[in-house]
Amino acid sequence: MKAQRVVVTGGAGFLGSHLCERLLAEGASVICMDNFLTGSPANVEHLMGRPRFRLIECDLTGFVHVPGQVDLVLHFASAASPTDYLRHPIATLKVGSIGTLHALGLAREKRARFLLASTSEVYGDPLEHPQRETYWGNVNPVGPRSVYDEAKRFAESLTTAYRNSHRVDTAIVRIFNTYGPRMRPHDGRAIPTFIRQAINGEPITVTGDGSQTRSICYVDDTVDGVLTLAASGFEGPVNIGNPSELTMVRLATIIRDLAGSSSPIAFVDRPVDDPAVRRPDTSLAYTRLGWRPEIDVTTGLRRTISWFERELLATDRPAS
Ligand code: NAD
Repeated sequence: MKAQRVVVTGGAGFLGSHLCERLLAEGASVICMDNFLTGSPANVEHLMGRPRFRLIECDLTGFVHVPGQVDLVLHFASAASPTDYLRHPIATLKVGSIGTLHALGLAREKRARFLLASTSEVYGDPLEHPQRETYWGNVNPVGPRSVYDEAKRFAESLTTAYRNSHRVDTAIVRIFNTYGPRMRPHDGRAIPTFIRQAINGEPITVTGDGSQTRSICYVDDTVDGVLTLAASGFEGPVNIGNPSELTMVRLATIIRDLAGSSSPIAFVDRPVDDPAVRRPDTSLAYTRLGWRPEIDVTTGLRRTISWFERELLATDRPAS
């Protein structure tokens, strides 16, 4: 990517912090905007003090001002784990709607390219498998998950309206389950939960009978896909994810084995409206962007487990 001035909203979160890191490594100047609702300054501590990095504490649903030129806005602010968005339902709806409005307004004011981090959750509990971008989804608008998936569906619609009505150069990426270092051990998502439980020798809690599937993508691959889309002129929406699909019980077993743990697998209640299957069709990403994931599940999980082992050892207490 050529040298640019980039705003990353939600830049102190899991994905946002990896984006900030990669952008700096590629020569960009980065303005990271975050209200630390689910992220933390600790995620970007290692970037502080670099001349091309600036952290601004800011709630995207309030007044948003960035001095100077901006070439690209990567809009990643939003709670993303079910535990987080169920704890913050209104904040999630507000950042998906008002926050997206403000981020689009910033891109319009600065004549910047705008990229919306959307999600595979827009497909809901899908009736088409694997999911292509042409699938409209199967979403319960009043179910508990709707605060997240309907907010993202609204955000996609708003982004499209800004493209058509205000000629903002926009792109929409639908990200599928991504994992890696800097996920919070207690964020409620399956991978950090399984890894924490395996390392601590606790039962690994799989929901339902564990036959539901997910397709998991290592964070470096997702970051590559996002930045390749940002550097292209393509508007999407485009799926970014890893099509290798696993049942949850298989995922739990792989993590247990890679962590060298003897934790038992325990089955617990499955959340309401939890999707039965999830797998991206990534042919559009390949044909339009030349992107496909490179990191296999074993390699990605090994790296993530090592990071969690170091983190849990360093804090020597369950992190929140
Ligand atoms: P995260 O919770 O780690 O990061 C989200 C960041 O947004 C946090 O730092 C949080 O403090 C910030 N934020 C929330 N509300 C804000 C507001 N009003 N103003 C400013 N900052 C705010 O989650 P993540 O996994 O890094 O996800 C980042 C983005 O990617 C989200 O938009 C999410 O929907 C999308 N996404 C992630 C995944 C995934 O697997 N991680 C999958 C699909 C989509």
